[in-house]
Amino acid sequence: MLDVIPIPMRTDNYAWLLVDQATARTGLVDPAEAAPAAAILSRTGGRLDYILLTHHHDDHVGAAALLARDYGAVIIGAAADAHRLPKLDRAVGEGNAVEIGESDGVVMVTPGHTVGHICFYFARSQVLCCGDTLFSLGCGRLFEGTASMMFASLRRLASLPPETRVCCGHEYTEHNLAFALSRDPDNARLLARRKVVRARREAGQPTLPALLGDEILENPFLLAPDLEHFANLRAARDRF
Ligand SMILES: [Zn+2]
Repeated sequence: MLDVIPIPMRTDNYAWLLVDQATARTGLVDPAEAAPAAAILSRTGGRLDYILLTHHHDDHVGAAALLARDYGAVIIGAAADAHRLPKLDRAVGEGNAVEIGESDGVVMVTPGHTVGHICFYFARSQVLCCGDTLFSLGCGRLFEGTASMMFASLRRLASLPPETRVCCGHEYTEHNLAFALSRDPDNARLLARRKVVRARREAGQPTLPALLGDEILENPFLLAPDLEHFANLRAARDRF
């Protein structure tokens, strides 16, 4: 089983430290900066075994090479994007296994935000590291992929068990919630969620990980009934 620890980086990014309870081996997802990661690692035993990259954007890979050198970590990322990721030690694709100690996971290819975007899903630990594909109450912008690609990727993620802890790449929940409420102002679930989100942010706490079961019931991008609705929603969110 994995413990998950969000590490705030830059303005609103999170890297995710995954700690295997049985072996104390660790993986770090999407490190943009070295110093905040090193500060947490010094408190969790000082070891970093794997760096897992969801996509090539600098705010997800910026410190990967430096941390790999300092800790001797293995860098894992998408084979399809190897040409524009930091130098990979393991290039992976759909269905490939990843292990952190005794916690095993699988790679899911989820194009949309970028065409080479991947997620890491650890079924037994009920952990999904989804980068900039799925956000709490939102989804990633379509920088490279099409609405159709992203719609299909989100459908796949929404089919995972509702107990799954969703570890997203950014703290966008408040703004996503404002957008969702702008379209559905009387939604009782969203109004209840606003209380929780506000309390967390006022306490300086992350709103993540989110629970997939909540997202399935509240995230407008997962609730979109078809591709056309989804595409219109994504375009409206870009302007919001
Ligand atoms: Zn990105």
